[in-house]
Amino acid sequence: MAKQQQAIQAIRGMHDILPEQSPYWQWLEKHARHVLAAYGYQEIRLPIVEKTDLFKRSIGEVTDIVEKEMYTFDDRNGDSLTLRPEGTAGCLRACLEHGLLHNQTHRLWYYGPMFRHERPQKGRYRQFYQLGVETYGMPGPDVDAEMILLTDRLWKKIGIRDKVELQLNSLGTTEERAVYRGKLVEYFKHHLDVLDEDSLRRLETNPLRILDSKNPDMQAMLREAPVLLEHLGEDSLLHFNSLKTMLDDLGIHYRLNTRLVRGLDYYGKTVFEWVTDQLGSQGTICAGGRYDGLIEQLGGKANHAIGFAMGMERILALVEQLETVNIEPSVDVYLIRVGQEAEKAGLLLGERIRDSIDGLKLQLNCGGGSFKSQFKKADKSGAAFAIIIGDDEAQRGEVALKSLRIEQEQMTLSHDALLETLKAWHDKQSLV
Ligand code: ATP
Ligand code: MG
Repeated sequence: MAKQQQAIQAIRGMHDILPEQSPYWQWLEKHARHVLAAYGYQEIRLPIVEKTDLFKRSIGEVTDIVEKEMYTFDDRNGDSLTLRPEGTAGCLRACLEHGLLHNQTHRLWYYGPMFRHERPQKGRYRQFYQLGVETYGMPGPDVDAEMILLTDRLWKKIGIRDKVELQLNSLGTTEERAVYRGKLVEYFKHHLDVLDEDSLRRLETNPLRILDSKNPDMQAMLREAPVLLEHLGEDSLLHFNSLKTMLDDLGIHYRLNTRLVRGLDYYGKTVFEWVTDQLGSQGTICAGGRYDGLIEQLGGKANHAIGFAMGMERILALVEQLETVNIEPSVDVYLIRVGQEAEKAGLLLGERIRDSIDGLKLQLNCGGGSFKSQFKKADKSGAAFAIIIGDDEAQRGEVALKSLRIEQEQMTLSHDALLETLKAWHDKQSLV
């Protein structure tokens, strides 16, 4: 007797997006594409795997991502490769490789799965989707404001604007951060007893990240820590203040969060996050900032850059509570056919309908079955109509049309009349 095989399950923290969820994804993706197009951004599609060095050089050796979150493996020929943990590095790599920075292709977006070996929990997965936006060659702060406007417009479009808050900070220049870093480390050294294990580790490597700690026992100490904004030079301050003025003029509210830093090394000047209080500690749905230093770091000519990435799962978790999302049924018409003649006629008719009514969603009953069982499937499909063909109808070149959702007499129609009826119905639906 054959041994029952154990079923294989997905990897922890990596999720299937099931058919009942994918309409929400498509809906969000459609709105995002629409908003990006409205600002003249172009899509770039990037590989999911890159050389490990790309991430080490860009994200930085002492960040959470590189230290403990990357999926890194040796290829069969011994090269070290990594599943991309984020898109900024790959996007810039591609632009440098193909000379896009010289070609005025300066506003880009990408979309797809990212991989980080984190502890899985709600809003934190090992494979998750990001939509990222990057711009090159513009020193700001006008384009910094555009990044924020664009996201603000998307939140409004998908109906979550009143659930999110914009937080803003400036990280200044590398030199300003270095001075500040010294003072910060000094301050932390006076409070070693309060620092948790993570923070003690970061004290030497990435002390600014300690500011970001969510540990409740450290909050009082962090509130008194030196403030980076107070260590900015004239130029950085001018940049930051101009951005704030633009946002004020546009009526976009923000909260100054002087402890807002990014986990990655390459950021400077403007940083921002869109945060919600409705998703627990995984409340950041979108995070971005300026990274003027990275292009040179990756071997290009010094240039300006700013971008952001949004976490699609977290946005959808906010949206799913909304009743405003209008998800269309996946089937409009279900075609029932019983009998040999009817099966043949139905197959042909289905194609004729699809030829003539663009956008109508017609599902053909396959695999046979009685009228009764096919009606059940029709009902379950969510279709508005069932087309019914038995051998009698097939011989006469007719069909029966039955409305499945509203009380209406069943009609017997010629193929031509059927096409007309369905077309009229579909045109009316498209107007709604
Ligand atoms: P966090 O502080 O939540 O770990 P991060 O600073 O690591 O976030 P970024 O690298 O800036 O995040 O990524 C941008 C956005 O991508 C985040 O704001 C979040 O919405 C989403 N994101 C990041 N990591 C994950 C993850 N493991 N699962 C789901 N979404 C994520
Ligand atoms: Mg993280």
